[in-house]
Amino acid sequence: MKYVIISNRLPVTVKRGDSGISFTRSGGGLATGLDSLETDAPKHWIGWCGVHVDDPAERAEIDRRLGDQLLHPVYLSEEQIADYYEGYSNSTIWPLCHYFYSNIVFNDDYRRAYWEVNELFCNEAMKIVEPGDLVWIQDYQLMLLPGMIRERIPDVGIGYFHHIPFPSYELFRCLPERAAILRGLLGADLVGFHTHDYMRHFISAVYRVLNLECRVDEVQLEDRISETEAFPMGINYPLYHDAITTPEVAAHAEMMRGIAGESKVILSVDRLDYSKGILTRLGSYDAFLESHPEYRGKVTLLMVVVPSRDNVEMYRELKNEIDTQVGALNGKYATIGWTPVHYFYRSFSFDELTAMYHLADVALVTPLRDGMNLVAKEYLAAKRDAPGVLILSEMAGAADELRRAIIVNSTNIKQIEDAIFQALTMPDADKLSALRDMQALLARRDVTAWAGEFMRELTKAKARNDELRRKILGPGGIDDIRERFRAGRRRLLVFDYDGTLAPLVSDPAKATPTRDLLDSLDRLAADSGNTVVICSGRDKRSLGDWFPNPAIRLSAEHGAFFRENGQWQGDYGQMVWSGDVMEIIQNVTDHTPGSHIENKQTALVWHYRDVEDWLAELRVTQLINALMRPAALAGLQVMRGRKIVELKVPEFNKGQEIRRLLDKGPYDFIMAIGDDITDEDMFSALDCDAITIKVGRFSDSAMYCIPFQHDVLPFIETLAGDAPRAGAPNSELATAGV
Ligand code: UDP
Repeated sequence: MKYVIISNRLPVTVKRGDSGISFTRSGGGLATGLDSLETDAPKHWIGWCGVHVDDPAERAEIDRRLGDQLLHPVYLSEEQIADYYEGYSNSTIWPLCHYFYSNIVFNDDYRRAYWEVNELFCNEAMKIVEPGDLVWIQDYQLMLLPGMIRERIPDVGIGYFHHIPFPSYELFRCLPERAAILRGLLGADLVGFHTHDYMRHFISAVYRVLNLECRVDEVQLEDRISETEAFPMGINYPLYHDAITTPEVAAHAEMMRGIAGESKVILSVDRLDYSKGILTRLGSYDAFLESHPEYRGKVTLLMVVVPSRDNVEMYRELKNEIDTQVGALNGKYATIGWTPVHYFYRSFSFDELTAMYHLADVALVTPLRDGMNLVAKEYLAAKRDAPGVLILSEMAGAADELRRAIIVNSTNIKQIEDAIFQALTMPDADKLSALRDMQALLARRDVTAWAGEFMRELTKAKARNDELRRKILGPGGIDDIRERFRAGRRRLLVFDYDGTLAPLVSDPAKATPTRDLLDSLDRLAADSGNTVVICSGRDKRSLGDWFPNPAIRLSAEHGAFFRENGQWQGDYGQMVWSGDVMEIIQNVTDHTPGSHIENKQTALVWHYRDVEDWLAELRVTQLINALMRPAALAGLQVMRGRKIVELKVPEFNKGQEIRRLLDKGPYDFIMAIGDDITDEDMFSALDCDAITIKVGRFSDSAMYCIPFQHDVLPFIETLAGDAPRAGAPNSELATAGV
């Protein structure tokens, strides 16, 4: 087994010099996290190496030298970089995911290049990835890749992490190729985001665009589950925390302190990007100096803007606007001895940057949208024991964790202005208390923990899907069951009804059995060695009307009533539901279009098959909460089933019913099939010799799964095919010559 990491860029910097090509391994957060993974498995990495290479001999040389370090380069042409990377990734997906709708460029060449380059990555992956490997794909440049790899090698563990925000469905739906992108992502066993909000948006988009069955944290596919979870990415905490203890960083800090003098330092560090809110930040600082003249000359904004994407027109314009605004601000307030904004349009070394972090009294981190924002975390770590305050935008993913920062709305200039004042006047004890709390969290949840947790969850998700695939009833399993069926003399065959023998339909009254189903069950029941039971939550009238053949036994209302030899037994009268219970259920029904109430003798059922998932989820929680107390007082049970909530007398459930049936044994072949949560009771009540089959994709207690209801009848027909025709002698006895 191998780990294979796939990201747009390999963690290397390639340089061409007079003495040929050279490589340095770069130590970004991701590389640190992945390097730290504790495993004996080899760790391979696939990605673009960052330089354009046409010459086959040079490619072979790069392949060989990087290959020694298990790094596998993908070669991209300049046109591909322009259209896939700067185009679709950074001009379509980036603005979409950061809520900058008007910045989105929709362009067919970009889209084509994105597909083509994802294919290239897939081809490279095919050279390395084998069944059983764990593949971890990084970020929005490669959203189609999970699906592409899954198609070519189904039996591989695939994780995907989205490092930027995932927008709400309302925005995501604007993307013409939204369905293909989601299908690509769903190739993964595990899709990770920085926050629960992004995860929620993703699930909502999958539900609405693809109409797939979803839970809050998973999407159910034909033969797999794609899980999703929030894994907020951490930093290399010790690296930043200890930076100031090195003489180089301490020297930089001392030098900077000398220049800043007595002034308080407010730090702002970003890549050049419209999502970072740099202009609004300058506006807030301007407003602060305007309304707090006492701070003029006593505070300095140290503003670092790291050049990025500046060959793109929109970014060049932004840079010009920042230049103009900084110039205007300095022109407005500067004195001979004081410059309000120290502005740098370049990147700094690690030593310089961490010195700035350590020195700064306040970090002003106010992006308009940011997947996480690592600067905020690095600042807190690098402060070490020196007091400092973080002002953080609620639009940054980091705000979910860093609750003790001063949280601001990054478009609210007045609020940021007030936050600056609050930060500058905060007592040191308060600053240190918040700092220590947040540092403890960052130390615990560092990048090593992040990578380790993701890989652990991916391993579990893969194992769960392996188990799921293993349980799916295929030809081999059917042959085994048939063999055991034929060898049996006394067989107990228990079938759930709705969702098992009949599909779930909007109107439960219309779920009548088909002629083919009745024929098959009649044939099974005609064999005197077979005890055929339909065990359902349905009332006895529906079951009795649909299955008139007295040879078929019926258990209605989870066993409150049962029909044997054509005679109904069970003497439970009609439950009288209290006024408040009726009112609660009626009220929820009135407020939930598409839902209805079913009043059975021993249960009151709220059906929500036709209700939109999110509304159903809300109402189910409300209903269960509201029913809890009256149910407890009346000694009733509230139970959740498939698209139903049931208030019922507690004495009867399918587990009890199967025990009652077993008492009539002994049986040498037992089989139970069901789709609902209530059927799990039935499976658990049987021992491991019994054949238990879940209709659906996943069951902890069933031995097999039949993913689709429409495959149940053909399966029953194979068993019925082994049974005699109605009226014929018992097949087993006949073959035994009795
Ligand atoms: N950074 C850097 N050199 C600089 C300024 C910043 O390498 O001169 C790094 C910084 O340490 C941080 C990253 O750039 O790790 C910015 O990450 P963040 O998540 O804040 O924003 P992104 O650029 O990923 O949107």
